Amino acid sequence: ATPTAVTVGIGRGAELGILIKSGEALEASDKLTTVIFDKTGTLTVGRPEVTEIVGDERMLRLAAGIESRSEHPLGEAIVRMAISKGIDIPETKDFYAFPGMGVVGVVDGVEVAVGNRSFISERGTRIPDDMLERASALEELGQTVLFVSVSGAAAGAFAISDAIKDSAKAAVQKLKSMGLDVVMITGDNIRSARSVAEQIGIEEVHAEVLPQDKASEVRKLQQAGRTVAFVGDGINDAPALAQADLGIAIGSGTDVAIEAGEIVLIRDDLMDVVRGIQLSRKVMSRIK
Ligand code: ADP
Ligand code: MG
Repeated sequence: ATPTAVTVGIGRGAELGILIKSGEALEASDKLTTVIFDKTGTLTVGRPEVTEIVGDERMLRLAAGIESRSEHPLGEAIVRMAISKGIDIPETKDFYAFPGMGVVGVVDGVEVAVGNRSFISERGTRIPDDMLERASALEELGQTVLFVSVSGAAAGAFAISDAIKDSAKAAVQKLKSMGLDVVMITGDNIRSARSVAEQIGIEEVHAEVLPQDKASEVRKLQQAGRTVAFVGDGINDAPALAQADLGIAIGSGTDVAIEAGEIVLIRDDLMDVVRGIQLSRKVMSRIK
């Protein structure tokens, strides 16, 4: 009867758009204590939009030039904004991306950097107090603020907003009602991360985690005795998906994430995280 229950469960999952790739997923579902969500592209839609620009047209042109070389959704938002304003995107030389921090390059013969507060500050640029205050206020509202330096001097900033998925709040509430701890992990700054988490109903937040450190954050929680599921969508998330006891990949995400997940969600509905865990548990109860 054992293999039948598994086959039926996997078949039922497939009908629902929940692909269960391994028996390990089923076993982990039973012992689960904690569900960790990546923020960008998992809890949020992953299509950020610029909502506010501090700075002039030249700043926007230079920032867009650099970001046109980046594959990051935040960079794409800046490029879209510049194009919508009729700006010709200039060429960038000596481009370099620092994952989880920002980008640098040479545009129109000047050095331009775009990135988060610590990235720009650590490059020796002093961000004016009024710009920092405005940024903090926007971050408290859940926006991500990127700063721009041109030839080493602060030149402006962008506030960028990424909508929360409709299904996020209900899914988190349901997971909690099942007795699971829910955690959010992100490379974004702590103020923005906390605001988004609060809107969804998540209390435990790990922010400003560099892409290469996501997996070790998962490991730390495991070492603290927790059995964890990790839900993610990005290239950055693949090591964390693999490290987790149960990796749940968003099917609309990157191929690398889908490859690393033990469960793949075909629909973009976070309630499928709940359904996937419930289905796995049901299968386990039949084979015990
Ligand atoms: P997340 O975990 O939200 O997907 P990342 O780890 O990709 O975030 O990035 C973390 C932070 O690094 C971003 O919020 C941003 O401040 C900065 N950053 C990353 N890539 C870029 C970029 N191309 N341009 C500007 N800033 C960037
Ligand atoms: Mg993501």
